[in-house]
Amino acid sequence: MKTSRAVVFDGRDRPFRCETVAIPALRVGEVLVRNEYTTLCRSDLNTFCGKRTERTPTILGHEVVGRVEELGPGAPAADCRGAALRIGDRITWAIYAADPASSLARRGLPQKAPDLFKYGHEPVTASSHLHGGLAEHCLLRRHTPIARLDEAVPLPVAALINCAVATVAGSLRLAGDVRDGVVLVAGAGMLGVIACALSRCARAKRVVAVDIDADRLATARSFGADVTVQIGADRPDLAERLAVELPGEPPSVALDYSGVPETMEALRAALGIGGVLVLVGATFPQRPLSLDAEQIVRRLHTIKGLHNYNQADFVAAVGFIEAEHQKFPFARLVHDRFTLDQADEAFAFGMKSRAHRVGIRTICQPAIASPSSGASSP
Ligand SMILES: [Zn+2]
Repeated sequence: MKTSRAVVFDGRDRPFRCETVAIPALRVGEVLVRNEYTTLCRSDLNTFCGKRTERTPTILGHEVVGRVEELGPGAPAADCRGAALRIGDRITWAIYAADPASSLARRGLPQKAPDLFKYGHEPVTASSHLHGGLAEHCLLRRHTPIARLDEAVPLPVAALINCAVATVAGSLRLAGDVRDGVVLVAGAGMLGVIACALSRCARAKRVVAVDIDADRLATARSFGADVTVQIGADRPDLAERLAVELPGEPPSVALDYSGVPETMEALRAALGIGGVLVLVGATFPQRPLSLDAEQIVRRLHTIKGLHNYNQADFVAAVGFIEAEHQKFPFARLVHDRFTLDQADEAFAFGMKSRAHRVGIRTICQPAIASPSSGASSP
């Protein structure tokens, strides 16, 4: 029987534990993947440090890329873009598996379907294992959106697709057509800089990045931001600052990845007539927002929320990275230095560094020699 090594997380303040497990016979619709690379998402780090609670033991890591090692009975013959799926193909997959026939999935909300299964978030049990990126293998459940990848995309960049890039693609979908409009992006972390790049490629007239950190704003510029606005920790009136920076050009879209109430309120106030505000960053409890309902009515504003993404967003993310990965310095966002045996060090580094992402090679081979190797993000 084939076995696989998994790095198991037992909870905050406990070292990772390496476990060798038997790979079970594949069930209907399942695909066995040999994981190649995993990037640590902010939610992985938040689980690691106890900011968020996950059922344990678990295998963290949901930004993963790997190769098909085995196709189970009734496994999909094609990926979610219609390309043939074969053993040896490099793939990535959505963060979720969900029955597409459920009413929520049919409404385009599979990430909230009643049978939702989330990679990198599920507890390890006797019958459910190998469902995270920090292992040699991942067992893909039935109803997992899978995408075969262009081999030209570097592994650390490809790994970003199935959480960061797909979530941003979802927020742009909710924002609607940004062409010729001004897009305001608050929070120039991983999602924010990707949003600048996606907005640029969607032909926004101007992309404005807002953050408290000058280095992050410099990174946003290299991802397509034309204008950057550094705000103080006390969040001065962003609307006034924007009126100076963009006279006569109020934003048609504002995307919030900061999760800061004062910033979200300021974004709404800065929107022009008919503007859309998409909230993505507010994934933790905090004070309610103060919103001027009369202004929302008179200025025809729309406010939407997004958590995770759907299959269309995932497909858009794959297409975007395949087409544009050389246009923007994505590889600089990933600190590419660790292997699966160094999970403790990788998480410790992720907690103390300002790297947008920490990458972990889950297959033993030398790191790709590229300008990005070993370089932390600015
Ligand atoms: Zn994530």
